[in-house]
Amino acid sequence: GALPGRDDVESLVLAAHDRERDLRDGEVADYIPELATADPSLFGVAVVEVDGGTHDAGDSRHRFTIQSISKAFVYALVCAALGHEEVLERVGVNNTGLPFNSVIAVELNEGHPMNPMVNAGALATTALAPGGDPETKWAFIVDGLSAFAGRPLEVDGLVYASESATNQRNKAIARLLESYGRIEGNPLNVVDVYTRQCALLVDAHDLAVMGATLADGGVNPVTGERVVPADVCRDTLAVLAATGLYERSGEWLFEIGLPGKSGVSGGIVTVSPGKAGIGTFSPPLDPAGNSVRGQRATAFLSRSLGLNVFASA
Ligand code: GLN
Repeated sequence: GALPGRDDVESLVLAAHDRERDLRDGEVADYIPELATADPSLFGVAVVEVDGGTHDAGDSRHRFTIQSISKAFVYALVCAALGHEEVLERVGVNNTGLPFNSVIAVELNEGHPMNPMVNAGALATTALAPGGDPETKWAFIVDGLSAFAGRPLEVDGLVYASESATNQRNKAIARLLESYGRIEGNPLNVVDVYTRQCALLVDAHDLAVMGATLADGGVNPVTGERVVPADVCRDTLAVLAATGLYERSGEWLFEIGLPGKSGVSGGIVTVSPGKAGIGTFSPPLDPAGNSVRGQRATAFLSRSLGLNVFASA
């Protein structure tokens, strides 16, 4: 069925925020030192419908770095550039069942990244962005993510510098992929572009617009711009359903029944195909690195708006 009327969606978005605003569970990420400075009380919820209707509650306009949520949109852009078969073969579409920064997952799969929504697969995906040099790849990524958001996105210089100084593990993963012939060019340049993409500033409202673009077959419902083809949205959402919340992806799909993607700064984007995008932001995370309040607010919205894709009525 369709979404409820605009007024009902509006009051449910406000209710989703209200219900979870006092929840204090979870821990703010601190392995990137600059992320540890986030205010744990910040909490925003936004829904953007494919017809352009928007709903915002709480701190939905507070900006934070997109982190791993960038993986979903860079993946879509690379799928659009390279095609279904090549990305399937080179990056894979399975859940590794291991933490997002796992080195073991690469070893267990003999160098095949397997999962584009954790760091190894995301590094392999960023390496596939068109362009022979890092600046061309970066322009492709920042222009593409900006088109998804419908406004020019900018890098948070402090978070970029902080992660650049502490991302030895991602450099190790990139070198390991290189040793298996899974990254072309200089792997440290790939890590740098990836670190920049993770440091792009968005807010929960932007995430809802980005999600609504995937929900709308690749057309941004606010700007009207076609960003990626519809078959790329279908493929990306299938990957998100299987992998979007790291090793908690099964629990997420069981409770919420929608493709989503989380990041360690506390954002989650969720997509209701053909209907809407949902963006949430709240920094405290569960042990896998997913926002606690974001998961709960999104579960409430999925249930109350009737969005679970596995429900027959
Ligand atoms: N930039 C972060 C990293 O590579 C992103 C991780 C995340 O959001 N899970 O570690």
